[in-house]
Amino acid sequence: MKPGQRRKVVVGNWKMHTTAAEATQLAQGVVDGVGNEDGVSVILCPPFPYLALVGAILKRSRITLGAQNMYPEKKGAFTGEVSPTMLLDVGCKYVILGHSERRHKMGESDAFINQKVRFALASGLDVILCVGETLEQRKANQTEAMLDRQLNSGLADVPVADLPRISIAYEPVWAIGNADHHATPQQAEDAHAILRGRFSKLFGKEAAEAVTIQYGGSVEPDNAAAFLSRNGVDGALVGGASLKADELLAIVRAGINEGRVEMQPT
Ligand code: PEP
Repeated sequence: MKPGQRRKVVVGNWKMHTTAAEATQLAQGVVDGVGNEDGVSVILCPPFPYLALVGAILKRSRITLGAQNMYPEKKGAFTGEVSPTMLLDVGCKYVILGHSERRHKMGESDAFINQKVRFALASGLDVILCVGETLEQRKANQTEAMLDRQLNSGLADVPVADLPRISIAYEPVWAIGNADHHATPQQAEDAHAILRGRFSKLFGKEAAEAVTIQYGGSVEPDNAAAFLSRNGVDGALVGGASLKADELLAIVRAGINEGRVEMQPT
């Protein structure tokens, strides 16, 4: 696969936001705004209680439903947890795993994230695996080592046949939800090149050319095109700006424009 053939993707991670009424309005606004446009893949990841509600709104649209997390068991005595079987049952196709808020606020280890990745894939969910360094690690020149470690461990023992069902999100921890501390598009491009290089070492050049690597960290309407136009930046994982339909739609439009540029024959 040539680099230009990767389809752009925009993922809205609503985190622990919205009420049922707000989720309804937001999802409907995105559905109406995207319409029949299919130049970009759009995925919405609402909180667990609103998955079915939002899933019903997305039903006849081009937008896909994703979850923000899951527990790596089919069912059982795991109070407060949600299984991939349940997520599939309410219409999810994707699950975000390894988000920095789960790594750093909930203490999820590399090994646990890997267990989740393998279980999600085996259950039938496609995986968006988040990786990214902290500010201290970047300052200590450990970015490459961290990305290596998180990718290696996150994808350990993943069946090669499942690789097309995995995408990577590079999310520098210091740039997430941080209006004062944006990564530059060049920093994103460099990190994506490191990740694609590591992916190539693990699974070969063809798999590395095919894998979608999206950027996340305060992507907003006014910087989306700058990120999405960069070499190897195949999409955006959007938190804050995904809570307003018009802002997410502006990012989707940037993805459509930059995707078109990339798809042009050279
Ligand atoms: C995220 O939720 O993964 C994220 C990148 O959030 P924000 O866009 O708010 O930085």
